Amino acid sequence: MTALPVLPPEAYVSRATTTGRAVCPYCGVGCVLDATVVDGRVERIAAVADAPNQGMMCPKGALLSRVFDDEQRLTQPMLRRAKNEPLRAASWDEAIRFVADRFRKTLDTRGPDAVAWYGSGQLDTEASYVFTKLFKGFLGSNHTDTNSRLCMSSAVAGYTLAFGSDGPPTCYDDIEHADTFLILGANMAVNHPVLFNRVRRRRTDADHARIVTVDPRFTKTAEHGDLHVPVAPGGDVALLQWLARRLLDAGHVDEGFVSAHTTGWPEHRACLESLEPGFLARLSGVPDDALEALAATIDRDHRLLTLYCMGANQSTVGTDKNTAIINLHLMLGQVGRPGCGPFSLTGQPNAMGGREVGYLAHQLPGYRKVADATDRAEIELAWGLSPGAILPEPGLTAVPMFEAAASGRFDAIWIACTNPVVSMPDAAVAKRALRNTPLVIVQDITTRSETAAYADVLFPACQWGEKSGTMTNSERLVVRSEKFLEAPGDAKPDWWAPARLGRAMGFDGFDFGNNEAVWSEFITLTDGRPCDCSGMTNDRLEQGPLRWPCPSADHPGAPRRYTDGVFATPDGKARFHTGRLDAPAETPDEAYPLWLTTGRVAAHWHTRTKSGLAPELARQEPDPFVELHPADAAQAGIDTGDACVVSSRRGQARATARLTERLRPGVVFATFHFGDGFAAGVNLNDTTHAACDPVSKQPELKACAVRVEKSEAAA
Ligand code: SF4
Repeated sequence: MTALPVLPPEAYVSRATTTGRAVCPYCGVGCVLDATVVDGRVERIAAVADAPNQGMMCPKGALLSRVFDDEQRLTQPMLRRAKNEPLRAASWDEAIRFVADRFRKTLDTRGPDAVAWYGSGQLDTEASYVFTKLFKGFLGSNHTDTNSRLCMSSAVAGYTLAFGSDGPPTCYDDIEHADTFLILGANMAVNHPVLFNRVRRRRTDADHARIVTVDPRFTKTAEHGDLHVPVAPGGDVALLQWLARRLLDAGHVDEGFVSAHTTGWPEHRACLESLEPGFLARLSGVPDDALEALAATIDRDHRLLTLYCMGANQSTVGTDKNTAIINLHLMLGQVGRPGCGPFSLTGQPNAMGGREVGYLAHQLPGYRKVADATDRAEIELAWGLSPGAILPEPGLTAVPMFEAAASGRFDAIWIACTNPVVSMPDAAVAKRALRNTPLVIVQDITTRSETAAYADVLFPACQWGEKSGTMTNSERLVVRSEKFLEAPGDAKPDWWAPARLGRAMGFDGFDFGNNEAVWSEFITLTDGRPCDCSGMTNDRLEQGPLRWPCPSADHPGAPRRYTDGVFATPDGKARFHTGRLDAPAETPDEAYPLWLTTGRVAAHWHTRTKSGLAPELARQEPDPFVELHPADAAQAGIDTGDACVVSSRRGQARATARLTERLRPGVVFATFHFGDGFAAGVNLNDTTHAACDPVSKQPELKACAVRVEKSEAAA
């Protein structure tokens, strides 16, 4: 008989195992995940079946256990009283008192215009709400904006112009009812992979279903599609107008829907008829055969679900691209019905929730607007402020905010949960902004963020699993995440520091004992608003997620909006908005002959402060790279693997060349994931430019003119 092995004594000590459920902190799909915690460490992540992810998750979600292995984890406040001093550890009391004194001095000497906040679509709704309340209500500064400005504000503007309200009319379940998927400016297979699996499954299950991708690159998403439409940079609106004209000429307009539920059709129709299709086709850059195939795929009888993301939004005509998409759906009468509609995808997990609390510079809670006197009065009353306390002028949006800071406009800027030194366009401006601002407060989970290097005060934040909080995913689904880990040291949930500062400055209304108290206050401000969450009590959210509008405690939540054809405009009708054709702020020329288009890869998340901790992900995409068409590479004498320098009028970024015919000639592609913390001189956003859409104020991160040259340095 074989003897049993003798195990060491510790093997017989039982290990404490607990589980917790939380929404994934990465993309806007909002996968709900279960974590198994053994002896205080996350050992396993599992996807929840009864959730939008339907039991699926991508490698980033599956490897979330790695994000806790951060040697640079920030666990206690740090501060310095002068720029030439090193940061030193401080207690929360000392750090908050220091910031409160500096803010008070600034308010007394320069007024509220000299303080600003820059946040993130990765903050939960509770934190976004408390920051908004503190800055707009009590400090009196509307200079609050977030990285959602870089990713979603054109979608906000498009929905608001067309429907009278932000927020998609659709839900994920529409995927299982759609006939045609028009995926425009969204590499879903890489950036929303779980949702794209649902699209692919529909394609497999329904013989007639079709996937059309519109992108200058033949992306991973295009690989799974039936038709790829290789639009030129700056050609999207022309393409959409061409398609609208073709649908009009072919008799696919739903005249009944258009006359009963919309305004502006006669003007839009006249505009379409005035545009010469050949001119639009040339501007779109799409070959005739692909145009004809596109026109043959879309009609009134098939339910069209248009899924779009940064390629539609990050443009100087981002608002016009969004309204051009919505116009198509209005023409076809395909809004508010199962399986169809314009569906903007959020890049971040809570870009939707942040918009609901009004954290962008022009917003107030409950989809109210700073510029609207009634909206301001309602919020002032709710917050116990005197009339006129909220200033009527919207604050500076992201790009002008950093430009103003670079020229010394602010005494203090508070940056929470984002890394603008890497992610802002023309990133040198962001660095100059932080150098030229006397008090830079950075609230984050780590000092690995390049932005942390500019901080005068560091506030340690809890990360995923260490706090309870609420997020809204791309389909308006509000999900409550559980705390299942103790936070290290003095790290606090993100809502805690602004609440503590509010109390330290003597403001009423910041005595929140926990996230539930913040949530309860916030939802009262949504009562009767388009994004009504007033029926989503803490108890209900703990039972499971709900989609807004959810106006009462017994309301089941709303999968779709505008099902009755009544929109959130004053007359209840949706509006056609005839926008401008594409006019990129910068086009290639002799000195900078190539278009640079930017994007993400599946293995990384934004600036890699979390995903960069997973070796399995890093191995997939270890270095910054630039993709070139072989014809362009040949002209520059570049081969795959060569070290290159991407240059623009603003700066340079080093990257390794990859040759591919998946790109249109004349277009190069690179990612913005790598900052100077990874290696000096690799930040692609040193080359991008900061021109913005005039309505949405979203910068044109998807197109600028560059040159790519072989470098003498090793790859
Ligand atoms: S990154 Fe997105 S698709 Fe991947 S697990 Fe997280 S939420 Fe789901």
